Amino acid sequence: MNFDLPDDLIALRDMVRDFAATEVRPHSREWDEQQMLPDELVHKMAAIGLLGPMIPTEYGGSGLGYLANSLIMEEMARQDGGVALFLAAHNGLCCSHLLLAGSQAQHAKYLPKLASGEHVGAWGLTEPGCGSDAGALATKAVKDGAGWRITGHKQFITNGIRAQIFVVVARADPEKGAKGISAFVVERGMQGFSIGRKEDKLGMRCSDTVTLNFEDVYVPDENMIGPRGSGYVDALRVLERGRVGIGALSVGLGRGALEESLEYAQTRTAFGKPLFEQQAIQFMLADMATQVDAARLLVHDAAQSLDRGESEKIKACMAKMFASEIATKVCLDAIQIHGGYGYTKEVPVERYMRDAKLCEIGEGSSQIQRILIARDVLNEVAA
Ligand SMILES: Cc1cc2nc3c(=O)[nH]c(=O)nc-3n(C[C@H](O)[C@H](O)[C@H](O)COP(=O)(O)OP(=O)(O)OC[C@H]3O[C@@H](n4cnc5c(N)ncnc54)[C@H](O)[C@@H]3O)c2cc1C
Repeated sequence: MNFDLPDDLIALRDMVRDFAATEVRPHSREWDEQQMLPDELVHKMAAIGLLGPMIPTEYGGSGLGYLANSLIMEEMARQDGGVALFLAAHNGLCCSHLLLAGSQAQHAKYLPKLASGEHVGAWGLTEPGCGSDAGALATKAVKDGAGWRITGHKQFITNGIRAQIFVVVARADPEKGAKGISAFVVERGMQGFSIGRKEDKLGMRCSDTVTLNFEDVYVPDENMIGPRGSGYVDALRVLERGRVGIGALSVGLGRGALEESLEYAQTRTAFGKPLFEQQAIQFMLADMATQVDAARLLVHDAAQSLDRGESEKIKACMAKMFASEIATKVCLDAIQIHGGYGYTKEVPVERYMRDAKLCEIGEGSSQIQRILIARDVLNEVAA
């Protein structure tokens, strides 16, 4: 493991850090309350390359890797988890699926607009009837001439309100089980495709989460992503990579909560001295700092493995599970350190806590990560 960042990644991290501090932080409370993100922010993020960090330069992206993306996610989430979740769905799910499994023609057609921010991307796997058990999905794609007709519903889809490009996973060959699942590009405006209810959520509130409805939506053959029947395996590959991003998002939330707490503990006095001088508070801060750093090590290790082209999905599971769980814990401790103020919207730590909880659920819950990790550990023992 090498955790020294090269100069170009340090410059990227510092650039995103400054952007998030000036363009995001001052507005986060308002966006959380209003449950919205302004288009202007999306355009500004596109202008500095945040909507195509892993898209090759020939398609207008930055051609960077997973470590770079992790730095972006951490810096953005340190100020606003919802903005980071917007990026996670656009970059880590929609663009990632097209990059991993799309054809050259699909890359040429979709990636430049996704990188420039002209189009926003979303990714639909989860359904009203299944999330963790994604292989049980019921949305179907029926062959019709030179295309497919998609019918069904997708649930909890991030960016659905503003996306133009939706990667949708559907059952094309029901008799083949998971091997009968394929992925398609569905474009906003296609006949029969509509956006349903927007969820009123606990956290990540500036990021929209909606239902997608498909009623006999016709998509041409060229919109199928990857070979027929590869949709489920490709979705799992996308999730493996996406989990590293959610791990980094969690680290950002934990770090944000820690930094707010450090500052508060130095300025707030109780019993004649700063909170920071109380050993009980020091111990909490020590634990928080250790947990955040440990989570970052797991995330960077998993990201570097992906950048080396290794497929070590268990590293991604461990990073995501550990980072998301410590993020919730660190944020709860941050509220405790802030006392009564921590329970109000005057300080951002309660928002960080609400945002962090999602990271234990989305892109595979902690229980699902443990199942995958246990399976891997038991296989190693048996080998
Ligand atoms: C804000 C938000 C954004 C999202 N964005 C997207 C998106 O953009 N695209 C998308 O496709 N999906 C998205 N999702 C869906 C998300 O990935 C799912 O919610 C998640 O995978 C869990 O699925 P579920 O909600 O159906 O829970 P369920 O699968 O019903 O699980 C319920 C509970 O049971 C546990 N459980 C399930 N099976 C087992 C088992 N075998 N052993 C032990 N415990 C188990 C789970 O861990 C969980 O605690 C989003 C969700 C949210 C809340």
